[in-house]
Amino acid sequence: MHSSVKTVGNQRIMEQVPLKTIVEQQGSPCYAYSKAAISDNFLSYQRALASRDHLICYAVKSNSNIAVLQTLAKLGAGFDIVSAGELERVLMAGGDPTKVVYSGVAKTADEMRRALEVGIHCFNVESESELRLLNKTAAEVNKIAPVSLRVNPDVDAKTHPYISTGLKENKFGIDISRAFDVYQQAAQMDSIAVVGVDCHIGSQLTDITPFIDAMKHLLVLVDRLADAGIKLHHLDIGGGLGVCYQNEVVPSLESYMDALAPLLEGRTETLIMEPGRSITANAGILLMQVQVIKKNGDKNFAVVDAAMNDMLRPALYDAWMDINTVATECEHNAIYDVVGPVCETGDFLAKDRALSISEGDYLYLSSAGAYGFTMSSNYNSRPRVAEVMIDNEKIHLVRARETLEDLVRGEQLIEES
Ligand SMILES: *Cc1c(COP(=O)(O)O)cnc(C)c1O
Repeated sequence: MHSSVKTVGNQRIMEQVPLKTIVEQQGSPCYAYSKAAISDNFLSYQRALASRDHLICYAVKSNSNIAVLQTLAKLGAGFDIVSAGELERVLMAGGDPTKVVYSGVAKTADEMRRALEVGIHCFNVESESELRLLNKTAAEVNKIAPVSLRVNPDVDAKTHPYISTGLKENKFGIDISRAFDVYQQAAQMDSIAVVGVDCHIGSQLTDITPFIDAMKHLLVLVDRLADAGIKLHHLDIGGGLGVCYQNEVVPSLESYMDALAPLLEGRTETLIMEPGRSITANAGILLMQVQVIKKNGDKNFAVVDAAMNDMLRPALYDAWMDINTVATECEHNAIYDVVGPVCETGDFLAKDRALSISEGDYLYLSSAGAYGFTMSSNYNSRPRVAEVMIDNEKIHLVRARETLEDLVRGEQLIEES
């Protein structure tokens, strides 16, 4: 398993900092991200794509902390956003709006206006009504909207059904069989400039065949459009490359690019990718503390202070995530379900794990840097946890733990009659 945590002597460390120091200093639970791991993951994309004109648009929804975005913006990343909120984060982090692609199935006119105002690279348009609204909105503000149609290539990403997005029956994108007609309409619209094509077939893919199939479908469309006089400047293959959580064998970026290369030979279009998980997942962990150890029937439970509201993946997708003790010297003493205190049976982080733990011990969940904090909520009125960024020997607090005042911000009692 790839991990941002190393064991040195009898200590587990992230970069130069012992996990114990992080959690004792910042409190529990808390997310910790390795700046070096995030950077390295991004740089491997840059290296793999170096031989062709490219733009790597980090998918903000996987981890949208502004310090994470800042780290990537500094390295020249573009960004894939799905809301106006994500756009503001990118701008706040110093990201370049001209490298932003905007995905999402139902952008509002307000969101479109803001994106037009700052001059994003491209709208990934997902329906004909969105296209009409964008044309109208752009006309109102005297702008030309750069557009790529998000097509649905009808390939099976063979991943969890909740994160498979490229099948005909999914809500995403425009059916590829309709795309040619929609491009022709778009080309006629006064305030639309057709610039590219894109797809995003799913997340956590562990096989590159679906990507290659999707690209083949895109290229048939691109060539047909070129014959009709509609020339596209970029091909966006989306994100979705998987990571190793347990024992998945994930194709390397190099093998992915090698498989794409013959298809793209002689082509001049810019290649855009939208990786999220493969940049942040293994760069982060969630630290927590064992509160209660109990036995119900034959089952041992370790109740920790983190829960499904802090990390939803196990509850939502039945995802397996590695969990370990921060201390190294233990031999396993029992098999535990690691669960949170939320009032839901689905509130678990890990099941049937061999651990040696006592109440008060610290644990960390690996590969928690993507779809962790960003999916967290205040369910059960639990304040969202702190996030820290580790940079060599430094611990930067990049989001303060929420307070009880934060929990009720904006709420009001009504006047009693
Ligand atoms: C979520 C998403 C991504 C990123 O997917 P990962 O699996 O995290 O790489 C890219 N593009 C779009 C349109 C998305 O919705």
